[in-house]
Formats: sequence, C-alpha cells, structure tokens
Amino acid sequence: MKLVLLGPPGAGKGTLATLIKDELGIMHISTGDMLREEMKSGSDLGNEVKQYVESGALVPDEVVIKIIENKLTSDEQVAKGFMLDGFPRTEAQAEELDKILEKIGKSIDYSFYMDASLEVVLQRLTGRRICRDCGAIFHMTNMPPKEAGKCDSCGGEIYQRPDDNEETIKKRMDVYGENTAPVVEYYAGQGKLKKVNADQSTDELFDEMMANVNADKKANQD
Ligand code: AMP
Repeated sequence: MKLVLLGPPGAGKGTLATLIKDELGIMHISTGDMLREEMKSGSDLGNEVKQYVESGALVPDEVVIKIIENKLTSDEQVAKGFMLDGFPRTEAQAEELDKILEKIGKSIDYSFYMDASLEVVLQRLTGRRICRDCGAIFHMTNMPPKEAGKCDSCGGEIYQRPDDNEETIKKRMDVYGENTAPVVEYYAGQGKLKKVNADQSTDELFDEMMANVNADKKANQD
C-alpha cells in the first residue's frame, strides 16, 4: 500500500502515520523527520535547510525531491509499501513524485486529506513535545509524559520543536494554505483523495482511516 498523508501542520500526520505503519507493516517516510536528522548531524545539507525549517518556510523543491527520490529508489523496505508524511507539499513535488514512482513501476494508491480546524491545530501544536531520541510525540495537556520531561518509551529527553511557537505556526499555516492546499486538488483530480475529520481524537481518527483502508482493500479484492 502506498499512501500520502496531507493536512495542515497539527492535523496529526506524524501520530497517525506511526499507528498506521505499525498496523499495515509499511514504512513511514517523513521529510520533516529526515530534514531534522540532517540538521542534527550537522551535515552540509542540514546547515543548508536549517534556516527554512526553523522559520517555518518550505525547503526548496529540488532539495526535498532529491531526498525523497534517494529514499524511494535505494531503500529496500520501500517494497513493503509506504506512507508519505509531509511530502508532497507543493504541486511541483506531487508531479515529481508521480514521475519518480513511474520510473520504479509504482504509483500512489491514494491520499488522505486530514482536515482540521485552526483552533484545534493551534492547541495541538503549542502543546506538542517530542522525544529527542526516538521521536515519540506527546502533548502537555492531551497526552503528557508520565514523568515530566522524560519519554515514556525510551526515557529520552522531551523537547519542543523550535518551529512550534505561535509566530512560526502562523507562518506555517500561511505556507500550507498557499502551497499545500493545491496538492489536495491535485489528488482529487486524480480521483485519489479521501477526506477525514482530523479534529477527532487520535483513536477515532485511526478507526476512520483504517475503515477507509479496509474498504478499499475489499473493493480491490472483489
Ligand atoms: P514537518 O515535520 O512535516 O512539520 O516539517 C517541518 C519543516 O520541514 C517544514 O515547516 C518545512 O520547513 C520542512 N519540510 C518538510 N517537508 C517538506 C517538503 N515536502 N517541502 C518543503 N519543506 C519541507
């Protein structure tokens, strides 16, 4: 299964991708995570993208397309299927993704559009905290760690992403409206869009998305 997760920052893409990849046994590919890894490693690429990521701007298309192309064409795990989280974020990225997949004889099955209200995403993002070691996601009100500042899964240090402050969140929302909303239309135009209500709780949203996946699997078997 080859899926794309679309939605504004704070829709819950990372959280749901983690749950769904475990359920379906597919890969979770997050360009945001890959860029943060590069930044952490201090590589030339990491230094190049830092200013974009920390200010909430998009990293240039050619940079992220290259990262995704390398991943999709060189990682053997891709054969199991994958869920793209945070990519494509522009129409040009969506078009390039189709071309890359065509070259390796694959195509996207469909894209989930995780529709969330501004009020909900602001509440989620300002309270979001992340484990520096394993990437587990917490929320100060909705899902606090058992021990303050410590990850429940691995004991790692919990931090707030520098781009999860109110000013940068607003910028990311503007960037989303301008660049990523057209990607929703791109998949709708291909008849590959499933809209889900991302204001719901994680459990409800997971059930709704899995019901879609299972209905689709069944339809393809019939
Ligand atoms: P995310 O973790 O998906 O919220 O991404 C964090 C930041 O990484 C974004 O605000 C962008 O600066 C950058 N980024 C992630 N994915 C992309 C992409 N597909 N295109 C451009 N920039 C991206």
